[in-house]
Amino acid sequence: MEFIDVQAQYRFLKNEIDAEMAQVLQSGHFIMGPQVPKFESELADYVGVRNVVGCGNGTDALQLLYMALDVKKDDAVFVPDVTFIATHEPACMFGAVPVFCDIDPVSYNLSPQRLEERIIEVKKQGKYNPRFIVGVDFLGNPCDWDALKAVADKYGLILIEDAAQGIGGSTASGKAGSFGVGAATSFFPTKPLACFGDGGAVMTNDDALAEKLRSLRVHGKGSSKYDNVRIGVNSRLDTLQAAVLSVKLRHLDEENAKRREVAGRYTEALKDKFVTPVIKQDCVSAFAQYAIIARDNEQRQAAVSALSNAQIPSLVYYPTEQHAVPVFAHTPYACGEFPESHRYVSCSLCLPFSPYLTQQDQQKVIEALLKI
Ligand SMILES: *Cc1c(COP(=O)(O)O)cnc(C)c1O
Repeated sequence: MEFIDVQAQYRFLKNEIDAEMAQVLQSGHFIMGPQVPKFESELADYVGVRNVVGCGNGTDALQLLYMALDVKKDDAVFVPDVTFIATHEPACMFGAVPVFCDIDPVSYNLSPQRLEERIIEVKKQGKYNPRFIVGVDFLGNPCDWDALKAVADKYGLILIEDAAQGIGGSTASGKAGSFGVGAATSFFPTKPLACFGDGGAVMTNDDALAEKLRSLRVHGKGSSKYDNVRIGVNSRLDTLQAAVLSVKLRHLDEENAKRREVAGRYTEALKDKFVTPVIKQDCVSAFAQYAIIARDNEQRQAAVSALSNAQIPSLVYYPTEQHAVPVFAHTPYACGEFPESHRYVSCSLCLPFSPYLTQQDQQKVIEALLKI
């Protein structure tokens, strides 16, 4: 059994994907071929934003967004304590400082209350300049974007969405990828909307910001590639990957419906033994992963062993809070109280999960877990 069976999807969509890829191979337009703007406009329609700017990967998408929004030395970037380092790492490259905030105990997303407390603390200390709030649609479950926006507006901060795990999800206020001043996503092969390698995109309703992003991704180009008006990077979405993504986007809603079915079966079977995901009533999760929370670290260890004895893969995703990873452990805002983040990293376990997980395989996972 695979943790995420990425090949099952290829078998399912092979004819469509092969045809689209063959077209690119025959055209020879490997860099910024017509499939790139085509996919960008399809994704913009899907998410409900005015602009999508494709780029090399999700980390670059975040970096481009920080650069376009003029991230500076000593800016404070408020992020959830449980996320992937790429949420804030690209800002740190410009001398910004991450300020970790405890997560919400139910959604595992950035807690608006803890966020506000941290903003007040940083303002009071006066050493760093509060600039950015980055919410992450963690495991595919959308943040409470209305509450985060209220905090951002109250303190005059820039709200960014890290939608790397979120595409396909939504709240009552819109689809994942449409929140904040701009949103970044990743098409890494295990994400809900994925390509066959690296890929990413920035989404925004701000046309001027989109224009700047398009310049930044090609060495700060002006009207032409050799008329550079700013310092940029080289980060484009490959034409081949864009062709693959167009096909996959057409099937995203039906795949995400299957993800919700698989998640529902896990929850039904495991809810009396573990804490299972809670998705707010007016929200849809993209279920990038399915995580259970054990009673304590021992019970999680027992679950890992039971699965591994049955030759079933599982993953602790993520094993360390960001305030505790070595590179940040000595930064100014790594101290504080993070009880919910600690509970999550100590007790959570992600189970084999994909829209194509068979009921037989899922039953094996469930039986192994119920035995402990
Ligand atoms: C995957 C991921 C990224 C980075 O995406 P890459 O394409 O791997 O660079 C950023 N943030 C989060 C939350 C992610 O899960």
